[in-house]
Amino acid sequence: MTDAILRLALPSPLRRLFDYLPPAGVALEALQPGSRLRVPFGRREMVGILVEVCTHSDIPADKLKPALELLDPQSPLPSAFFKFCLWTAQYYQHSLGDTFSWALPILLRQGEPAQARQERFWLANDGASIDDPRLSRAPRQRDALKTIAQHPHGVAHGLLSQLQLNKDSLELLREKDLVRIEVRRHAAHPRPTNWLAQPELTLNPEQSAAATAIRSGLGSFNTYLLAGVTGSGKTEVYLQLIRETLEAGKQALILIPEINLGPQTLERFERRFNARIALLHSAVNDRDRLDAWLAARDGEADIIIGTRSALFTPMKNPGLIIIDEEHDASYKQQEGLRYHARDLAIVRAHQENIPIVLGSATPSLESLHNANIGRYALLRLNQRAGSAKAPKFLRLDVKSLPLDSGISGPMQQAIRKTLEAGQQVLVFLNRRGFAPTLLCHDCGWLSECPRCDARMTVHQRSRELRCHHCGHAERQPHNCPKCQSVDLRPVGAGTERAEERLEILFPDIPVLRVDRDSTSRKDAMTKLFNTIQKGEPCILVGTQMLAKGHHFPRVTLVAILDADGGLFSADFRASERMAQLIVQVAGRAGRAEEPGKVIIQSHLADHPLLVQLTEQGYFAFAEQALSERRSAGLPPFTHLALLRAEAHKPGQAEGFLDQACTEAELQLEELQLSGIELLGPVPAPMERRAGRYRAQLLIQSNARAPLHRLLHSWLNALEQMPSGRAVRWSLDVDPIDLF
Ligand code: ADP
Ligand code: ZN
Ligand code: ZN
Repeated sequence: MTDAILRLALPSPLRRLFDYLPPAGVALEALQPGSRLRVPFGRREMVGILVEVCTHSDIPADKLKPALELLDPQSPLPSAFFKFCLWTAQYYQHSLGDTFSWALPILLRQGEPAQARQERFWLANDGASIDDPRLSRAPRQRDALKTIAQHPHGVAHGLLSQLQLNKDSLELLREKDLVRIEVRRHAAHPRPTNWLAQPELTLNPEQSAAATAIRSGLGSFNTYLLAGVTGSGKTEVYLQLIRETLEAGKQALILIPEINLGPQTLERFERRFNARIALLHSAVNDRDRLDAWLAARDGEADIIIGTRSALFTPMKNPGLIIIDEEHDASYKQQEGLRYHARDLAIVRAHQENIPIVLGSATPSLESLHNANIGRYALLRLNQRAGSAKAPKFLRLDVKSLPLDSGISGPMQQAIRKTLEAGQQVLVFLNRRGFAPTLLCHDCGWLSECPRCDARMTVHQRSRELRCHHCGHAERQPHNCPKCQSVDLRPVGAGTERAEERLEILFPDIPVLRVDRDSTSRKDAMTKLFNTIQKGEPCILVGTQMLAKGHHFPRVTLVAILDADGGLFSADFRASERMAQLIVQVAGRAGRAEEPGKVIIQSHLADHPLLVQLTEQGYFAFAEQALSERRSAGLPPFTHLALLRAEAHKPGQAEGFLDQACTEAELQLEELQLSGIELLGPVPAPMERRAGRYRAQLLIQSNARAPLHRLLHSWLNALEQMPSGRAVRWSLDVDPIDLF
């Protein structure tokens, strides 16, 4: 007992465990990996997670402190889940304690009991009778006892008023020892015999083939890439697979992107099943989150639906994982534990030996590559499920055309024709605000952000200049700050400007804008969609918020104002993202009898990628983009890790990265690793952001294993490096953004 040393993961960025002695009076057998302990840490207290019990510590015995309290009689973390967290911390080279902080509900991290909310229940005592002489002159107590006695499992305190029970009467009955209170959880609902609350649709042949393929793999690990055009009925396939999972007595976990978390998606699951659905996303409060997490862990929730972090939900009987819109960027966490929920979900499915389905109309190049090499089974749905026809694509070369608030003449004509035919138009421009910058026509001054190497966007409505990178905002000046000229002109166009111009061009038509600025009020979106559902001619102007989830059956023209950003960006993923956006936006249109048309304005209308996309479709584009990635030695053909650093003084971050680079070169030699290149350090593409100077060092490797061997020992060295203390640094394994 005296020899036992507890090794704990504490919520600290340090990638190490912390040693403690067992708390006084706790038997060694009670200490299980995964259990939480309250420990002293400096002058504070912390809640740590027991990783292992061992007999040796590098800390001198007289320096070791005992833990204060064991918080869990049993480990609250199922062992499979515990292992999954260990794997995650290892893979992302992240502190285990901090990994647990991301993986566990906040109340558990704070030491709250790992128990679902308790409730008080009122029960009649054995032998209590309404004929008790003490009640002969207390009719209300008699009635109350009668009601309570009719509920052999007790009446929840919260239901008293519904049953017209009066708390005072019950208290008097309790004093007479006729009723008692029990504190316990709500009784688990019995498993339904019929899981369906609503009949299923008859699958079309394509859906049926996909469902059959996946069904045959239920019960063991397999990754399926369900690539189905928008409206091809992927969700219906999910629903039927979930039903089979439930029938097999198992649970299903469904991840959806942040932006799809509308009531539409959730209602579809709730309408279909008689099942207990646990929801886990950012708007769920801490208590409900803990209850949902526990219900999933204890097998009391059948279906778990949530965004990225819901991946970290333990399940008693996992049966199936579904990642909807697997290409979506919101699956990658860009701070702290920089994990990719899709990639990790595959690891989890592998560990639990269950199938995982990745669904998308525009699969990521990574996933398509994995399908190409046979690692994933590719299942395609090429037809829309209803009668809807796929839209036609047209490229509009605007090289020599004047742009009127971003909208060329031919585009204006196409919009006019569509409106005159009584139909709706969707105008897509992935840039919010009025104009991306303000320019002084006399001296060339530009509205640069004082804190970033970026320009501030003009927001005309609020008469502000706002930086979209750091949030800095100031009043729009009347005069040039440099030369006092009043000739200040907004350059370029954002959604606000396009909206304003369209209102002037089409004065009798409602113009509705959808972006983060217009929809910050909760009901704004709902109102908007009601207008659109009415079906009268209107113009929708918006950013990528328009690209996801919602169906606009009456939209027959999709006008894409700017595809150029994706074609000549320094970011090698930009073209993939642009193609996905175009296809997703296009998928909103032409749902019903009228086929849709998509017109894309571009200065690079003959760009091979854009030609492929519009003439051959997304898969042809993807093959071309993949072959470009292969020849350039980029992911998924190589593996990346990015070491970022930022500091208040210029040069500091690069100084640290220079040393880090030297260290990495040494280790490459020492570990005799080959096929790894160090690129940089270089200043970040936007060097100054929110007042800090940023730099980065990219590590590129032909194979995964040597990269991870390097990272592991390299990070240990970096943590010791004195120059690292003056900067903020972080490692991003498999980075998505190289900024
Ligand atoms: P996706 O998820 O691929 O975008 P959905 O599952 O939302 O597609 O299906 C699009 C539309 O087609 C929905 O309105 C859905 O109810 C309908 N649908 C799906 N499958 C079928 C089917 N087999 N028969 C008839 N309608 C279907
Ligand atoms: Zn000026
Ligand atoms: Zn800024």
